[in-house]
Amino acid sequence: MIIKRFKAEGFRNIEGCDITFEGGTNLLLGNNAQGKTNAVEAIYIFARGKSFRSCEDKELVGFGKDGFRIYIEYEDKSGENSLEYAFFGRERRRKKNGYQIKSVKEMIGSFRAVLFYPDHLGLVKDSPEERRAFLNIAIGQCYPVYINRYSDYKNALENRSCLLKNASKGLYVNREELLSWSYSLSEYASYIYMERKEYIKKLEKYAKEIMKDISDGNEELSLIYKSDIKEDVDKREDAAREYKRIFTEEIDREMIVGSSLFGPHRDDMDILINGRSARHFASQGQQRSTVLSIKLAEGEVNREIYGEYPVFLFDDVLSELDSKRKKYLLSGIKDKQIIMSGCENDSDIKADKIIEVNMGVFK
Ligand code: ATP
Ligand code: MG
Repeated sequence: MIIKRFKAEGFRNIEGCDITFEGGTNLLLGNNAQGKTNAVEAIYIFARGKSFRSCEDKELVGFGKDGFRIYIEYEDKSGENSLEYAFFGRERRRKKNGYQIKSVKEMIGSFRAVLFYPDHLGLVKDSPEERRAFLNIAIGQCYPVYINRYSDYKNALENRSCLLKNASKGLYVNREELLSWSYSLSEYASYIYMERKEYIKKLEKYAKEIMKDISDGNEELSLIYKSDIKEDVDKREDAAREYKRIFTEEIDREMIVGSSLFGPHRDDMDILINGRSARHFASQGQQRSTVLSIKLAEGEVNREIYGEYPVFLFDDVLSELDSKRKKYLLSGIKDKQIIMSGCENDSDIKADKIIEVNMGVFK
């Protein structure tokens, strides 16, 4: 998959731009605070459905503007496509190939991208929430239906947790209603469990290989799915049965605590290097290699599923990598399209196109 054109108006500090990209490596080059990340952020909205930096669209509107419009043209196996997203007043408008699409969910899975930016280095050391967010976004791009299942799960979880909270405050709670939400929750939870389990298995296969290459065979990476289901369960029905057991058996304790103590919203992915927890023992360099391996593996899994690479967006990551890891990253980009940003034109980068970024203007 290749992004060919990006247009934006009124998006953060980009008043108006129309950029074309080449198939190989594209470098957005400019000093600090010129608009490089803003462009990457806008492009990634089409892959993720929302910004990776702000929760609210209104923060993306350029100061003093009424709204923003962003647009991409990209080519994949199906041919030439375009996506557009506009936000004016409170109205959101999304279009695919010129036709209006109703929800953000219809957009996800069309344009696919792997984003790697400096904050991702926290994937190893930060809280489980970061790893769950990573998994949700990566799986959602591979299997868009996962996003629907996850929002159904969150909805059931919210209803169930609200009843538990009322119970903890001594308010009357209909036990039948609580059980009914627990049963729905176990169905949705079982889908999420199966998808995450499968995804982590695929991700590990590639990440292990990449980590081995980066470390000259010295470091073995393992990714282990941590969920409430302790036995290895292969069928979704069995996972649903197990969740149902957990959600009902512990209900009295949850009514005292006032929240849902079990389920995929508390999952984690353990990252091990040579059998030891990376979260607790990894050095800075090992954390960098691990995140780089996981991000490149994310692209490989996506390719395995769709039969072509997603677009790779590397925002300011080269400055975070030492020369060995940088060389590894740059050596493996032959058949991928990369859009990277940086403040310097690194001599290691053989860019096919350099786009200079200066105060929101791209040349
Ligand atoms: P760095 O190299 O430091 O990462 P950058 O080129 O990636 O810099 P951006 O993060 O893209 O910089 O930000 C460029 C500018 O956009 C910043 O000065 C920022 O204050 C500005 N900016 C952010 N949000 C808005 C907005 N809603 N409207 C106008 N300008 C904004
Ligand atoms: Mg930046």
